[in-house]
Amino acid sequence: AEKTIEIKDLVVEYRTRSGVVQALNGLSLSIEKGKTLGLVGETGAGKTTAGLAVLGLIPSPPGVIVSGEILLNGKDLRALTDKEMDQIRGDAVAMIFQDPMTSLNPVMTVGDQIAEAIKIHEGLNHGDALKKAEEMLEMVGIPRERAKEYPHQFSGGMKQRVVIAIALSCTPGLLIADEPTTALDVTIQAQVLEMMKGLKEKYEMSMLMITHDLGIVAEICDEVSVVYAGRVVEHGTLADVFDNTRHPYTEGLFNSLPNIENQAEKLKPIRGLMPDPTDLPLGCPFYPRCDHAMEICRTKKPPKVYRNETHFVECHLYNEQNIGDKEEKWR
Ligand code: SF4
Repeated sequence: AEKTIEIKDLVVEYRTRSGVVQALNGLSLSIEKGKTLGLVGETGAGKTTAGLAVLGLIPSPPGVIVSGEILLNGKDLRALTDKEMDQIRGDAVAMIFQDPMTSLNPVMTVGDQIAEAIKIHEGLNHGDALKKAEEMLEMVGIPRERAKEYPHQFSGGMKQRVVIAIALSCTPGLLIADEPTTALDVTIQAQVLEMMKGLKEKYEMSMLMITHDLGIVAEICDEVSVVYAGRVVEHGTLADVFDNTRHPYTEGLFNSLPNIENQAEKLKPIRGLMPDPTDLPLGCPFYPRCDHAMEICRTKKPPKVYRNETHFVECHLYNEQNIGDKEEKWR
């Protein structure tokens, strides 16, 4: 199927005074048209860097894309000029961040802000753009009369809806959402997710949902990539990763999250911390924290092993012969 975005073996470093931070360590991912990929992992795993790379927004210096490819609709983004990249950002890709206030102008009405985005994109005059802005507001569940109000007159959830309206005003083929609902309370979170799901279908958008919350992934994603130390360590469809978990890190994420069966008192945080990104372990990056670690894990990078066409895992516990049955290996 047609791929909206494809990242291949991306290596990104931040060259700081205290050392070279390996932010992405050969990260690969792809999203088919109209599908949503969840990028999950702990803070510092490289999820946000991956999103910024697609937008050409890695701060440089200290950030450097060392190697790898970023293909948007088959076009190599790394070969584009700054000006061409600007165009892509207003046009083909949009990003929503966790805190809506970072994207809103406090001294401009929300109607004008959406209209500005529409004007840049469609070359309409202000009156027509404003009319379209009001339609966009209604689409995200805000009455059109409120176009005249300023951001501070809106609640957190409403502000995030405005940001989504701005992001969608250019009908991007790819929407990158970085923890878009983390700052909202649970009920509002569900409403905003539901709305995003509807809009995604309406516009046949592809979406990259960056989150540390597997509940959100279950809600909205088609496939999921689990990121650890700048690499995808497990990937598959929701059913693959949720019902046939193979990687000890993914298992750890599930055990450390509250859900209906996993009551708060039984939660088991993953022991230890993410490895120092300036000094990654030689073999498997999860080795220092893994309950299943073996001697080989310390010195040798785990191979990528496929369980089916989409589901793979990078872990020494598995090879093509035994990946079918987790139980035996995990005793
Ligand atoms: Fe654990 Fe070894 Fe698998 Fe890494 S490769 S996750 S250390 S068992």
